[in-house]
Amino acid sequence: MSAPVVIIGTGLAGYNLAREFRKLDSETPLLLITADDGRSYSKPMLSTGFGKNKEADGLTMAEPGAMADQLKAEIRTHTRISGIDPGHQRLWIGEEAIYYRDLVLAWGAETVRVPVEGDAPEAIFPINDLEDYARFRAAAAGKKRVLILGAGLIGCEFANDLILGGYEVELVAPCEQVMPTLLHPAAAAAVKAGLEGLGARFHLGPVLTRLLRNGEGLEAHLSDGQVIACDVVVSAIGLRPRVDLAAAAGLQTGRGVIVDRELKTTHAHIYALGDCAEVDGLNLLYVMPLMSSARALAQTLAGTPTAVKYGPMPITVKTPVCPLVVSPPPRGTEGVWSVEGEGADIKALCHDAGGNLLGYALTGAAVMEKLALNKSLPPLLA
Ligand SMILES: Cc1cc2nc3c(=O)[nH]c(=O)nc-3n(C[C@H](O)[C@H](O)[C@H](O)COP(=O)(O)OP(=O)(O)OC[C@H]3O[C@@H](n4cnc5c(N)ncnc54)[C@H](O)[C@@H]3O)c2cc1C
Repeated sequence: MSAPVVIIGTGLAGYNLAREFRKLDSETPLLLITADDGRSYSKPMLSTGFGKNKEADGLTMAEPGAMADQLKAEIRTHTRISGIDPGHQRLWIGEEAIYYRDLVLAWGAETVRVPVEGDAPEAIFPINDLEDYARFRAAAAGKKRVLILGAGLIGCEFANDLILGGYEVELVAPCEQVMPTLLHPAAAAAVKAGLEGLGARFHLGPVLTRLLRNGEGLEAHLSDGQVIACDVVVSAIGLRPRVDLAAAAGLQTGRGVIVDRELKTTHAHIYALGDCAEVDGLNLLYVMPLMSSARALAQTLAGTPTAVKYGPMPITVKTPVCPLVVSPPPRGTEGVWSVEGEGADIKALCHDAGGNLLGYALTGAAVMEKLALNKSLPPLLA
């Protein structure tokens, strides 16, 4: 049998690529390998599960067996690849070698962890996949108070969702505003106020230094001397593209695995997309870019080399207490921000010197204007 196309990862990138590829090629053997249980699910739903009262099973869209049938593919679950040997077009799972025709890295990003002192490190939960979510739900069952580390997009979404799920929420983050890398301060203030209106308590500036058991609960010691009583901790301090195995195999890596517009790495027959990929300098940890990448790469793998293009890609943040849509100005552009509106309804627009719209942040009622504004946004990768 000829060597298969091998995809590492069964997240949205891996599964969407497999689906797009099968639309074009139903014959070439396809092998998907994943370290997790291989269930198909939509990761963005993880930060809406408490409000909807959904367990991990309730967020599952398909079991791996059903995906294998649908994709006419072999899927190996709970299987972690341990190395790539580009010279021989093979990869390693421990001692086992698997040969590939083409290899696609869709192995995502991992949560950033910081060392915390104390006797309760196992009470800190990252939530970056369905199995993490199941573990956190089990730990949070019957508990009341959640401390969230990080006030970025994911921390804010979990804050809103956990409050909807009946929890008391405090957030700790060493930044001055929520979503500091993403959001204009006026829009950030609106989102923070919305979450505070629901009861969230923010501690912006300090970091968690020690986590101690105290009877049934926990005591979180912050760097500014505050002590917060809580029951369980969610870590949402950021994601880092997985690059180690690629770098060890001699592939060029930067923030992510470096690929060109055709999603090709620096080695023949190896491609990357999704959270792990840095596409022509852009590492975007969102669904829209990976969908565009999956469509383009499927064409390339089916014999028609195709470059990916990114149009405007605004991000809808799932903080229903204060709706938010944001489209940061593309890299390398220079603009000036103007802010209209007040309270919960903020329209912050960024224009270049020629008056062209570069980006925006819309909150509250102002999100209604997104469709009209999207028409004027520049593409991210033309
Ligand atoms: C809580 C949350 C909410 C989000 N909300 C949104 C949103 O609203 N909108 C949006 O656009 N984006 C959102 N995102 C981001 C979006 O979910 C991700 O960009 C996307 O899911 C990434 O998909 P991926 O397939 O690249 O990676 P992943 O889903 O992380 O998949 C990686 C896969 O690789 C496997 N793997 C890793 N290492 C190995 C190995 N060595 N061997 C074998 N397999 C391996 C893993 O097991 C997994 O199957 C959210 C993210 C989170 C965490």
